Amino acid sequence: MQVSVATQPGGTSPNEDWVAGTPTFAVVLDGLSTAGLDTGCVHGVPWYVAQLGGHVVAALADPGVALSDALATALERVAKLHQTCDLKNPGTPSATVAILRERSERIDHLVLADSPIVLEGANGFTTLTDLRVDDVCQDLRAESERHATGSPEHRASVARLVAAQRQIRNTPEGYWVAASAPEAAFHALTGAVDQSEVRSAAVVSDGVSRLVTEYQMASWEDVFAQLRKEGPAALIATVRKVEATDPHGERWPRYKVGDDAAVAFCQRDQDARL
Ligand SMILES: [Zn+2]
Repeated sequence: MQVSVATQPGGTSPNEDWVAGTPTFAVVLDGLSTAGLDTGCVHGVPWYVAQLGGHVVAALADPGVALSDALATALERVAKLHQTCDLKNPGTPSATVAILRERSERIDHLVLADSPIVLEGANGFTTLTDLRVDDVCQDLRAESERHATGSPEHRASVARLVAAQRQIRNTPEGYWVAASAPEAAFHALTGAVDQSEVRSAAVVSDGVSRLVTEYQMASWEDVFAQLRKEGPAALIATVRKVEATDPHGERWPRYKVGDDAAVAFCQRDQDARL
């Protein structure tokens, strides 16, 4: 397949999204916000996603490895790189993971937390995502959405939400993300579809998918049309244009005015020739 990628930070802070594509797979990671809270780590989230992404790519060099095994191997290797950091800190750097891989007659997919994979088939679009994080801390989330994005009240309420999420992150009562424990890889949602069912696919962070799901300013059909015609960077530019119309998060309550965005657009051979 042909994979094209783009990523861009949402503001002036370093990008905490990460993306890579090869002729056989695509990987998107979205580092979770620390909301300014302690992490027990000297490296930071941009370092974490770069290391984890690189190690996922390395682990996928074996074409027969299961995606969850590859992710577990990568998590284990990155944990060893922290050396002096406190990996038991509930705020240790963490990320969502989405992987799509073409293998023999199948397309394998893995999602851990809320970076979706959208498959385009003959009968429309299928979204693969893991929204378990939405089931927890709903009261605190609702409270954060009552304040203007960027206001002191908003920042304080987001910090309260993140602090509460950390207490149940990577526990059976809560939700799972890539962090320091390899075990999280086996809580990812995985599956496979026949290659003939997929014309193209988009692996994206939620900073991109919200154009469809939360902002409702485009359909997946619109998104794939733009990806095919203008590529992933143009799609991120569209997201930014929409966000600029709501600078205080009044119409669309959100943590940041613009979130980091990452896209890998995967076109199967016959589609790429169209
Ligand atoms: Zn560290």
